[in-house]
Amino acid sequence: MKKLKTKESDNKLIIVSNRLPVTISYRKGKIDVKPSPGGLASGLRSLAGRYESIWVGWPGMFDIKGPVRTSIIRLLREKNMFPLFLTKSEYKWYYEGFSNKAIWPLFHYFIEHAEYNKKSWEYYKKVNDRFLDTVLEIYTEGSIIWIQDYHLMLLPGLLRQKIPDASIGFFLHIPFPSYEIFRLLPWREEILQGLIGADLIGFHTYDYLRHFLSSIKHILGVEHFFNELLVINRVIKADTFPLGIDVDRFNESSNDIFIKQKVGSLRNRYGDKKVILSVDRLDYTKGIVQKVLAFERFLDKYPEYRGKVTLLMIVVPSRWKVEYYGKLKDELDRHVSRINSKYRSIDWLPIEYFYRSFRQEELIAFYKISDVAIVTPFRDGMNLVSKEFISTKYPDAGVLVLSEMAGSAIELSEAIIVNPNNMDELVSAIKKSMEMPISEARDRVSLMFNKLKRYDVYRWVEDFLDSLKRVKAEQEEAVSDVISETVFTKIKEMYDNANRRLFFLDYDGTLIPFFRRVKEARPDSELIRVLKDLSRENEVVLISGRDRETMDEWFSDIGVNLTGEHGAWFKKKSGSWYKLEDVDNSWKDEIRSVMEYYVDKTPGSSIEEKEFSLVWHYRGVNSDLGYIRARDLVENLSYMIAGTNLQVLEGNKVVEIKNSEIGKGRAVREWLKEIDSDFILAIGDDWTDEDMFRSLSDDGITIKVGFGSTSAKFRLRDYKEVREFIIKLMSDQGE
Ligand code: UDP
Repeated sequence: MKKLKTKESDNKLIIVSNRLPVTISYRKGKIDVKPSPGGLASGLRSLAGRYESIWVGWPGMFDIKGPVRTSIIRLLREKNMFPLFLTKSEYKWYYEGFSNKAIWPLFHYFIEHAEYNKKSWEYYKKVNDRFLDTVLEIYTEGSIIWIQDYHLMLLPGLLRQKIPDASIGFFLHIPFPSYEIFRLLPWREEILQGLIGADLIGFHTYDYLRHFLSSIKHILGVEHFFNELLVINRVIKADTFPLGIDVDRFNESSNDIFIKQKVGSLRNRYGDKKVILSVDRLDYTKGIVQKVLAFERFLDKYPEYRGKVTLLMIVVPSRWKVEYYGKLKDELDRHVSRINSKYRSIDWLPIEYFYRSFRQEELIAFYKISDVAIVTPFRDGMNLVSKEFISTKYPDAGVLVLSEMAGSAIELSEAIIVNPNNMDELVSAIKKSMEMPISEARDRVSLMFNKLKRYDVYRWVEDFLDSLKRVKAEQEEAVSDVISETVFTKIKEMYDNANRRLFFLDYDGTLIPFFRRVKEARPDSELIRVLKDLSRENEVVLISGRDRETMDEWFSDIGVNLTGEHGAWFKKKSGSWYKLEDVDNSWKDEIRSVMEYYVDKTPGSSIEEKEFSLVWHYRGVNSDLGYIRARDLVENLSYMIAGTNLQVLEGNKVVEIKNSEIGKGRAVREWLKEIDSDFILAIGDDWTDEDMFRSLSDDGITIKVGFGSTSAKFRLRDYKEVREFIIKLMSDQGE
């Protein structure tokens, strides 16, 4: 198992999910606790070196009393698990009821199956409350709480009320439906309020994230800026983290003796017949009947394949008992026996149908011997079977027929992608899968495998927890830095006692709000007055990304010094524009690899290398996703370059990183050589200003406008506060 790099022993991680990843059996006085296979559990185990983790959830048994209960608790504790025993009624109303009869169908767009039952909702609230109590029992200050999935959507909010400062992450493993679907839920507001109790909310795909953001905006009126949401003075973040699998486990399985034997016997069994594999849990979202009918149509339409291909169909009994599942099972059984009796021959059964589950090793053997895997759900949050098949197959050939409605279709774009509602398309896809040349099938597997390998379950866990930490750090900074009365008084005192005061002021977003069209940001009369007053007794440098012509037009008769184009050009109050020489480049390799990661994660984006900078372009990316990734990249780069002299710039569909020596940092240093001062104050609002702040870290008062991470010492909320602050600073004592 892979271990993560750093050990931070003070970190306690509490994972909370409806179900603990174990199966407990109690027979003849003997209790047996077996780990259930699952990507999430192994991904989390990889954190053992970095976090002291504990998992809270239902152990799969109803409330029991006496010594058996004590023994189970003890056995689980040895595995760092903390059980919450549900009662039978809780199971019925919270789990089968609200979770699986309301949320599950609604979130998978099966609105006709969704039941909105008040009693189920009450139980859902009650059990979320019980989880709250259990988490509180084991929570210690500084613990990170990571809540999994749709059963516990109220828990983040409940926890936030009890522990306002807690670090809380939430990940949704199923789709988040479009606002038009989500709004049907009678308790939609409560659910969203619950979710935004978290600091970081994760989804598998960008579409789910987009739907969530739109629901939050329409239902709660909470605005989002890129992927950040401002919730009562707290910035929280929502982002995509496509769940990966333990790729190596599936790929390196050839050495496992059991798997080898199983593969051998299966190969004998099927000989040179082709095998199409289908693995699904019995659920109406999985499109199982549709798939069987497509196979029948394929055999009808292409008789040459009769006797030559078998559909090996594994249907795993569903985890919960909801009425539709019985009906679905009957329907499936009927079709399978009808098709089998229609086509079977002495030595060929068209559909081999198993209604049971297999151990992971057995499943891997099935993946290995199958030529094709057909995964065609009507809706699926992610779908791990498709990823497992590709990971097992590589470097051999294999064809994946995959529904575009599965979350995994985003990454597995080299599969034969189908709309599961289009029967003709399904039939042609099966035909195509039978005829795909080996070399093409191998190439496609290889491309998909590489993507899965880059973002496996270990990376997923790491990515989520690192993002959570970043959000937390950002929040802490933001809140503590807003200028208070006491801080203001101190700054004012310094201002009054100084003789030669120097101000560096950014323009857009700092002195004036943002406008849709850049030219509309012309200074208004109040601003001109403030700047004139300020520059009467102080040296003022307006330091902006704006071009020289605009700066000349707007500011030439105000009496301020100017720096334009992110620090490339300078103009003294009564002088003309001049520029300095350029510099060094040795930082590029490290930054390029970070940008490459974003290229991998963001289809359609690319890197451009310029003489003094690296540029990440995202014009070709779906526009909202592009903005979200750009924000994320900027954040990451900013953390990486703290303390260095690099600078990140956000432009029109580009993120650019360059040496700050041709940025605002160098500009500030140049001005410091020109202007002697005993009081320096700099105000700015965006990433280009961070270098200015860093250049002044020892000698200046630095102020960031707005929330978001910064190296400035203080913060003001918006341009209005900036103007008020400057006016107050200039006012006479005692006023
Ligand atoms: N699985 C298994 N035995 C089986 C069939 C499936 O262990 O007989 C596992 C499979 O390896 C996969 C999971 O069950 O990891 C199914 O996950 P998926 O995301 O495909 O569907 P879900 O059932 O979670 O909707």
